Amino acid sequence: MPELPEVEITARLISAATEGARVESALTPGINALRSFDPPLSAIDGRRLTGITRRGKLFVVGIEGDLALLIHLMSAGRLQLFDTRASLRDRTSRLLLRLDDGRELRLREFGTKQAAWVKLLTADALEAEETIATLGPEAYPDPPPLGPLLDAPRPLHGLLRDQRVIAGIGRSWVDEILHTARLSPFKRGSELSEEEAERLRAAIVQELGRALAHYEEHLTLPIPDKLPMPLRVHRRNGEPCPRCGDQLEAVFYEDYVMCYCPTCQTEGKLLKDRRLSRLLK
Ligand SMILES: [Zn+2]
Repeated sequence: MPELPEVEITARLISAATEGARVESALTPGINALRSFDPPLSAIDGRRLTGITRRGKLFVVGIEGDLALLIHLMSAGRLQLFDTRASLRDRTSRLLLRLDDGRELRLREFGTKQAAWVKLLTADALEAEETIATLGPEAYPDPPPLGPLLDAPRPLHGLLRDQRVIAGIGRSWVDEILHTARLSPFKRGSELSEEEAERLRAAIVQELGRALAHYEEHLTLPIPDKLPMPLRVHRRNGEPCPRCGDQLEAVFYEDYVMCYCPTCQTEGKLLKDRRLSRLLK
């Protein structure tokens, strides 16, 4: 699941390789991922790419003439650059930007859900677009003080993943961040002390920065289908905690898993396993 570091490194690498390249044509094969109708997709034919940036977990592909493609990967999308064109039978393709030098920028989606989407917008419409207009402040590189931002009676695990509260964090990196901050995923935002809020802020910068540095060192084009995420806690339940050596535990939800260290984060308490408790009812 691509989050801030994965989207950021993808944007940096592909932007550097495609800035100034001219789009020959744009296609949305198969399931139509295009969620906008004005301007039409054909408006970008013949125009140059002006750079790819990141907003939260979304891409903004700049196109000359004050146009932008807003791309949301959702849980299983990838933005990739290829030297050759896709077979139109490739069922993962959602958007193809055919460049006039023969390369192709491709939005692909894996898995069974078809949720990734694209909007072609003018620069003004981009800022007013609902997902963009409701994004909270960026989690990286310089998030604002978290005390006021997280002042709600909701668990940190959900608050930090709420893109309207703070933008860029998802189900993988939230586990790393809370572990580094030594905070329980179920602690409520409104119960954070000033010192804890500062610790959490530092952990966000540290963990997202660590991920980005790892990708900067190890990734080059082409972006692989599966990014080698340097996770130390997420999905490592049963393994020793990288800090204290005790066993990492997990709480299982319908479609994701939350991992933590009881010793470092919950004063030794085991959090309730939602899956098990439902089965035992
Ligand atoms: Zn630990």
